Amino acid sequence: MIPVAGKMQAAVVREFGRPLQIESIPVPIPGRHEILLETEACGVCHTDLHAADGDWPIKPNLPFVPGHEGVGRVIGIGEDVGNFAIGDRAGLPWLYNACGTCEYCTTGWETLCPTAQYGGYTVNGGFAQYMVVDARYAPHIPDALSSVQAAPLLCAGVTTYKGLKETEARPGQWVVISGIGGLGHLAIQYAKAMGLEVAAVDVREEKLTLAREVGASITINAAIHDPVKVIQHEIGGAHGVLITAPSTPAFQQAVGMTRRKGTCVLVGLPPGDFPLPIFDVVLKRLTIRGSLVGTRNDMEEALALAAKHGISAHFETAALDDINRVFEQLRYGKVQGRVVLDMNRNELELAGCTAIADATLLRRF
Ligand code: NAD
Ligand code: ZN
Ligand code: ZN
Repeated sequence: MIPVAGKMQAAVVREFGRPLQIESIPVPIPGRHEILLETEACGVCHTDLHAADGDWPIKPNLPFVPGHEGVGRVIGIGEDVGNFAIGDRAGLPWLYNACGTCEYCTTGWETLCPTAQYGGYTVNGGFAQYMVVDARYAPHIPDALSSVQAAPLLCAGVTTYKGLKETEARPGQWVVISGIGGLGHLAIQYAKAMGLEVAAVDVREEKLTLAREVGASITINAAIHDPVKVIQHEIGGAHGVLITAPSTPAFQQAVGMTRRKGTCVLVGLPPGDFPLPIFDVVLKRLTIRGSLVGTRNDMEEALALAAKHGISAHFETAALDDINRVFEQLRYGKVQGRVVLDMNRNELELAGCTAIADATLLRRF
């Protein structure tokens, strides 16, 4: 059924720091270059929580629908779309689209486009029964991956795969992954597939158990031990450090864990700053760099690598109307792996399909 001009259930942020509301809102209509997807699954990233809390300097316009690990089946096609057919599966990623012509877009760095749009942040995302994506930027989902399996790869997967590439660590060298949540436990699996040795740091013991299960050979509980001392003592510092922890103390530690001439990649996005030891950065010739999701090419590689090496999030599924409970678990570091909203678990029915959607309201309803 194509519910054009119908209504759908969505989890909506109306006020920062307040519970999301499950509402009936118009099904979006795909415009030029866009396709309409019936959502099958959408992962819940800690970024969605930052977005709903209004944590960052640039905030989304209210109201909005979060979610940028969406996977769905194409049920409607807008003008000028040549790369998707009805029935194909596509993803709604963080990088919704970009201008295509700026110096970043034309050099394979479209993630840095100043006018890029972000799924579930500047445009509505996947916490909804239907979603519209830009077909030029939406990934195809490999047949080897189910929709719930693929969803976490669309942000947690590509972000950590790209972040690991940005460490410039080579096969046989050491990387430290700080923060073994949704991102971190996938980072370990990508690192192993890339031939790297992995040490994992978290502040919760059960996360470190998961880290060992997915391939980390050193694990450190930073709530008990100083990870800088342990890493320097055990391996003399790591060639690459990837920080996914949404916690500022982890950033200073990460710099301390980086080996001479090594690279420390910042991916976690807690609000705030951290002090950088100038002397160490200079004397050890450290590289400290940020990394933001991945390009379309990184996405294709990350999905292909996952399909080939059996890289998969440890996930549990939840229904759309469970979102506030999931957010609370995420806030307190209690999610083991990823929670994926499985739209098939939703008992909520598509609300009546007769109302005429107002095209001007589709983006922000
Ligand atoms: P998550 O909540 O699933 O995992 C965070 C993990 O960090 C948890 O296991 C928690 O126990 C651990 N942690 C907390 N404090 C720590 C500390 N001091 N030291 C070590 N570990 C600690 O979150 P997630 O979905 O994996 O996202 C992590 C962060 O990455 C968020 O800030 C998110 O916004 C950000 N993110 C950035 C990008 C990007 O492109 N740069 C993309 C996706 C997510
Ligand atoms: Zn994310
Ligand atoms: Zn651009």
